[in-house]
Amino acid sequence: MDRIARIDMGAAGGPKVTFEEVGEYAGLGGRALTSLVIATEVHPLCHPLGAENKLIFAPGMLSGTTGSMTGRLSVGCKSPLTGTIKESNAGGQAAQVLARIGYAAVILEGKPAGDDLYKIIINKDGITVEVDNSLQLMDNYPLVEKLRKEYGDKVAYITIGSAGERQLLAASIACTDPELRPTRHCGRGGVGAVMGAKRVKAIILDDAGMKMRPAKEPEKFRDANRKFVEGLRKHPVTGEGLPAYGTNVLTNVLNEAGGYPTRNFKGGVFEGSAKLSGEAQAELEVKRGGTATHGCHRGCVIQCSGIFNDKDGNYVTKQPEYETVWSHGGHCGIDDLDTVAKLDYMDDNFGLDTIEMGVTIGVAMDAGLAEFGDREAAIRLMEEVGKGTPLGRVLGCGAEITGKVFGVEKVPVVKGQALPAYDPRPIQGIGVTYATTTQGADHTAGYAIATNILKVGGDVDPLKTEGQVELSRNLQIATAAIDSTGMCLFIAFAIMDQPETFQALLDMLGAFYGITMTGDDVVALGKKVLSAERDFNKRAGFTKEHDRLPRFFYTDPIAPHNQTFSVPDEELDQLFNW
Ligand code: SF4
Repeated sequence: MDRIARIDMGAAGGPKVTFEEVGEYAGLGGRALTSLVIATEVHPLCHPLGAENKLIFAPGMLSGTTGSMTGRLSVGCKSPLTGTIKESNAGGQAAQVLARIGYAAVILEGKPAGDDLYKIIINKDGITVEVDNSLQLMDNYPLVEKLRKEYGDKVAYITIGSAGERQLLAASIACTDPELRPTRHCGRGGVGAVMGAKRVKAIILDDAGMKMRPAKEPEKFRDANRKFVEGLRKHPVTGEGLPAYGTNVLTNVLNEAGGYPTRNFKGGVFEGSAKLSGEAQAELEVKRGGTATHGCHRGCVIQCSGIFNDKDGNYVTKQPEYETVWSHGGHCGIDDLDTVAKLDYMDDNFGLDTIEMGVTIGVAMDAGLAEFGDREAAIRLMEEVGKGTPLGRVLGCGAEITGKVFGVEKVPVVKGQALPAYDPRPIQGIGVTYATTTQGADHTAGYAIATNILKVGGDVDPLKTEGQVELSRNLQIATAAIDSTGMCLFIAFAIMDQPETFQALLDMLGAFYGITMTGDDVVALGKKVLSAERDFNKRAGFTKEHDRLPRFFYTDPIAPHNQTFSVPDEELDQLFNW
């Protein structure tokens, strides 16, 4: 990972590839690299779909090594959905393969003048960019099937579906899993629309002839990795809950806590939650010949994913995540896993963020376009998006735009991005994260659920305002650092509870780079990333008044706790004062 490749899609005479040393970005990876490049090189007032925006693909600091859990690919740009800086990361094979080919980052710049569509082939011999208009408006599953016939099975694919090509603001970027299914998405913030604006349909990554990235201190690295894996296997969340039931283990937990937003955030408990639960999902998957335990990339030891088949045993989609089951399920008053799985497949195929789309359909239901609980109507609305009809284009641009077009007063978004599956009124800590994160509403940016609800890394009462800003601050700093390593964020459960597992992670980083890594270094890295992101957002016009939840969370109490969000604005404004 000693090179950066820049591809100027708008160069005179056609796309032009240049290579350079990592230079000022040396030692950075993942989110640290994408955010520093954007903060340094992208004009904060540029139009996100214009030539001035850049789209950066960066494997993490440990991607492409023999280290476990190191397969996250960060994608960064100025977001067309939020107008803020954006980092969205996904699993799948892409990060490992890109890192082994030797790139710290591939940066798409400029914008071609015509309508041609391009594919980019990256291998040990270099980078080629080719026109391929036969791919126009293909969706992800048939697109990857077509590419496989040409480039085979021993590569990784990064693609956009029709939603990205149409530059819909909820469009995602898909990465293929080990079985070459386009199921792992950089979902949030409309990053797929930026790839569509650059007219890049697919990136084919081929690491034939390349080796694993070698550690500076191989034995120490091996030893630290072994201890790290032991720690993950020992912790109840990463060693038991996630492998057995996936992230959807949270449905019952959040419902019992009264923090499961139902029917567009009108209630905190869903009567149909048992039918949607991770326990029910895992049983169904195994009974139908799928699996409830699967890794989204090689080297994952937690294996929180799975395979969801239909009643005849045919593949439908990967195991829908908790946030997807919630957004397409309880949020829309739907209690049927087969409907959720079908909608998850449609999101993956068209190339859309499942959270944004589920929330959008709930907002559309609130507007009267369909009844809450109407399964067929939810599927029909998604089909409109796939066809690119005028209604589909509105829905595909997310909850905020849909709410405006149809006159919905209560739309759950922060900085234009839909709230995920945790109500901020009975879980105040996650509300602090939604309001203040640099990314728009995003649970992963500072997952306060861990400490508010799961009691990992301590215990902060979710109903009280005290301690929430400090909790969210610490989590946002830690997350910005983890997102830079290439590690899956789910390692956080084990490293927050088990000091020896955190030490093993530090030792892995230290042994790989031949340095000594301390907890203070991790904190410094997280702060550096957040500071760059905040600075970009400030220059893009964001102020402290944007660091707020929608008004109805302050005025409308939610059952069963009958509570509003009540962390004072003055405290929210202190989050980044460290
Ligand atoms: S724990 Fe889940 S999301 Fe993380 S790498 Fe493994 S399968 Fe992917």
